[in-house]
Amino acid sequence: MGELRIADDDAVDLSNLQRQIAHRDDGIGRAKAVSAAEAVTARNPGVRAEALTERLQGEALEQEVAGADVIIDATDNFATRFALNAACVAARRPLVSAAVIRWALQVTAFRAGGQPCYRCLYAEGDEPQLSCSETGILGPLPGVGGSLEAVEAIKVLTGAGDPLYGRLLVVDALDMRLRTVNVPADPSCPVCAAGGAGA
Ligand SMILES: [Zn+2]
Repeated sequence: MGELRIADDDAVDLSNLQRQIAHRDDGIGRAKAVSAAEAVTARNPGVRAEALTERLQGEALEQEVAGADVIIDATDNFATRFALNAACVAARRPLVSAAVIRWALQVTAFRAGGQPCYRCLYAEGDEPQLSCSETGILGPLPGVGGSLEAVEAIKVLTGAGDPLYGRLLVVDALDMRLRTVNVPADPSCPVCAAGGAGA
């Protein structure tokens, strides 16, 4: 039987509750990883969920990624996203990613070998270092994004359907338009291209 390993070094804050549906008012001040793991097992005690309350980086991040069948990025900053992507490329592990900003949601999936990685899409330093708390987030969208990430993770794990490899699902909630755009691999990507760390 598989298990979820939930990593987060942050604590639940009142300002999170508008969008982070795993947490509740009585979890304020507690470790987010613990709060989220308890939310999972409260719904279904048959699911194994382990909380990792330290900030995963360096060797610890590489080990956790290498030990996982699929990685789901639910982070809110580019530095962590780049580190997670590099670890997934190096360990050749599939990565499911979602991002929310204001009224927009993006979901995609990555895998090693001929497909783009996260770094192919975004150049380090080019993106503004915006986080959810600075830009504003439509409250329901992260839950939608998380559910879509779960859909992609199930497809990756089971081999069913066509995961969003090389494609970016863009949801514009303001006009409620969904579109999927093809994302090419960057032949000069410093992370996944030939000669890069993940080659
Ligand atoms: Zn790349």
